[in-house]
Amino acid sequence: MTLAIPVAVPGPFAEPLDYLPPASNPLPGIGTRVRVPLGRRRVIGIVVASAREGRVDSARLRQIEAVLDTVPVLDAELMALLTWAAAYYHHAPGECLGTALPARLRQGAAARLSAETCWQLTAAGQAADPEALRRRAPRQAELLVALQSAGELGAAELAGMGGDARGALQRLVERDLAVAIQRENAGLISATAAHAPPALNAEQTAAAAAITTTTGHAVVLIDGVTGSGKTEVYLDAIAKALAARQQALVIVPEIGLTPQLVNRFRERLSGRIAVLHSGLSDTERLNAWLAARDGLADVVIGTRSAIFAPLARPGLIVVDEEHDASLKQQEGFRYSARDLAILRAHRLGLPVVLGSATPSLETLANARAGRYVHQRLTRRAGDAMPPQLRLLDMRGQPTQEGLSAPLLDTIRRHLDNAGQVLVFLNRRGYAPTLICHECGWLAECERCDARYTYHRGRARLHCHHCDRERPIPRACPDCGSVDLRPLGLGTERIEQALETLLPDTRLVRIDRDSTRRRGHFETRMAEALRGEARLLLGTQMLAKGHHLPAVTLVAVVDADQGLFGADFRSPERLAQLIVQVAGRAGRAERPGEVVIQTHQPEHPLLQTLIHGGYPAFADAALAEREAAGLPPARAMALLRAEAPGREGPQGFLQAARACLPTPGTIDLLGPYPAPMERRAGRYRAQLMLLADERPALQHLLARWLPAVSALPAARRVRWSVDVDPVETL
Ligand code: ADP
Ligand code: ZN
Ligand code: ZN
Repeated sequence: MTLAIPVAVPGPFAEPLDYLPPASNPLPGIGTRVRVPLGRRRVIGIVVASAREGRVDSARLRQIEAVLDTVPVLDAELMALLTWAAAYYHHAPGECLGTALPARLRQGAAARLSAETCWQLTAAGQAADPEALRRRAPRQAELLVALQSAGELGAAELAGMGGDARGALQRLVERDLAVAIQRENAGLISATAAHAPPALNAEQTAAAAAITTTTGHAVVLIDGVTGSGKTEVYLDAIAKALAARQQALVIVPEIGLTPQLVNRFRERLSGRIAVLHSGLSDTERLNAWLAARDGLADVVIGTRSAIFAPLARPGLIVVDEEHDASLKQQEGFRYSARDLAILRAHRLGLPVVLGSATPSLETLANARAGRYVHQRLTRRAGDAMPPQLRLLDMRGQPTQEGLSAPLLDTIRRHLDNAGQVLVFLNRRGYAPTLICHECGWLAECERCDARYTYHRGRARLHCHHCDRERPIPRACPDCGSVDLRPLGLGTERIEQALETLLPDTRLVRIDRDSTRRRGHFETRMAEALRGEARLLLGTQMLAKGHHLPAVTLVAVVDADQGLFGADFRSPERLAQLIVQVAGRAGRAERPGEVVIQTHQPEHPLLQTLIHGGYPAFADAALAEREAAGLPPARAMALLRAEAPGREGPQGFLQAARACLPTPGTIDLLGPYPAPMERRAGRYRAQLMLLADERPALQHLLARWLPAVSALPAARRVRWSVDVDPVETL
């Protein structure tokens, strides 16, 4: 009998592969990285089970070449979570496990904190008198003072001191006053609880108690209007976890993880904070991950993939803005960080907090069914008043670049009263497209069923779907006319209009284009926060989550673009976006006003939102989903396919449909072309599955997908399955 070790390797393998044990003992444990041959390559895989009797003839098995860890990089808890997730999302286990690891570990680096050089004083340096140096070497004197008070300085601190601090330090070393040493650098932020918490109001107190008095697992939904103090509730619960020597894991959407939020945590908690997001270098990410694993970090704040952060002493999981679509990965391993947070907390026996001013319909349905503890914060914290929402009927109004005369009057009134104004348009660029005034030609992307966005600043046409760019044509390719005009509105165009109409008012634009360079988002947000810019203009990047206390007016330039989206979730997304944007108004002492421009003032969605707020919208939307048999009333999965020709995806999905085991209670829709059929030069189609019960859908997928991947047609397309899709485009 030969022993074989199952190893999950990167790549589209539905099962782990068997390998012979390494030549040297001992056998690698579950969750350890190993280097193995795969085809003609060497890859790094993860041991997923203990050695067992080989299923194939040992002569055909290859051998594990090296064991990279003595301590598993994925502990039993994470292995179980990821194994479950791989099965639930029907994704290759090797890729799921890889997603959970920092890139450096995937590449084989040691799971050890990296060291950085820093400097300390020698005994002579500690005794030295800076004043004696002051006249001849002022920089060295300054460094001596800094070292005497700080104990040690690292490269980052030196860089922050400006000038040639490094050179001056080198001379201190030459005089034997300082020495260079290596210190481990986990990149943690020290939180010092410099500010006392506000006294929580009655609703906040009840919400915080719902979290901290639970024993074992519970899902607590903090359903609180914007500015109601949800973050204070999280902070209260986190502080209690830290006091009990437990770690808190906080998941935020991509857009929500701002320096502002991190600062707030730092000022209010006492402990060490690790931050995990895609903006870090690979080494920084590895260090933060290790700090979480080894218990050096007390709080881990991160975006989506931080849900896989290892935790030495877990106590609490928080998912902020739980409705946000960015919590679901939209390619490859299509997991939902929110749903996995609930599962992880359940397995660990911990409370998990979901927070939002606009909870997803899924979460509301679960709360109504009694599965979650539903805590409402109905009032704004402190003295802030709820903002007043008003629709502005655009029909027949005179406009300048999409801004109606009454809206401009309102903006001027707020500016005259020293208010700050936030103008919201969820479309970057100058205009959604370019049109020929002579013949009607439109600048369409050659590779997508979509139009190019006209970017005036960069003087380019840019397709936001496939990223293709081209120069702006000088003449119409159809008729040769040079009268090409931008059609529709984008933030660049509104910026230009506002600068012309209000030339004396400082404006800052915040969207993906204006913040592309490192640090630009932070400096622009800081300008907005300090109130130097009275006019803030931006997309959802500006609208979501930020606390902008001086804003008194929010102007939604165009609510109509979201009213007729192709996705069944479009109304939900629009309602959430409007409520979130509106929530930026009047968050401090001064009351807020919200003006929404629309050509559809009678539209039921807008009417419901204005008169009943998000809860009324959610009631209506849940009833509609129930009637239509869509999530959350039913469970959904999508089988997607794409290929350079139209026939490939259709043929594959037809064949997939034909080999479905008796579907029973499961409804099938399609195959049908995706709402945007062509993207990046590929035709896309999908097959939708809907089931009353999630287990029935899971059971069917588990039996069906192996047959689907064995189809000859499967080799001619790119296909994927998306369980609980958040968008069906
Ligand atoms: P949310 O997360 O719900 O949008 P925040 O927690 O950011 O709300 O709170 C909004 C503002 O109200 C913040 O400036 C916060 O410091 C303040 N705040 C929150 N709770 C209280 C309270 N109990 N008393 C006074 N101010 C509070
Ligand atoms: Zn033309
Ligand atoms: Zn394109």
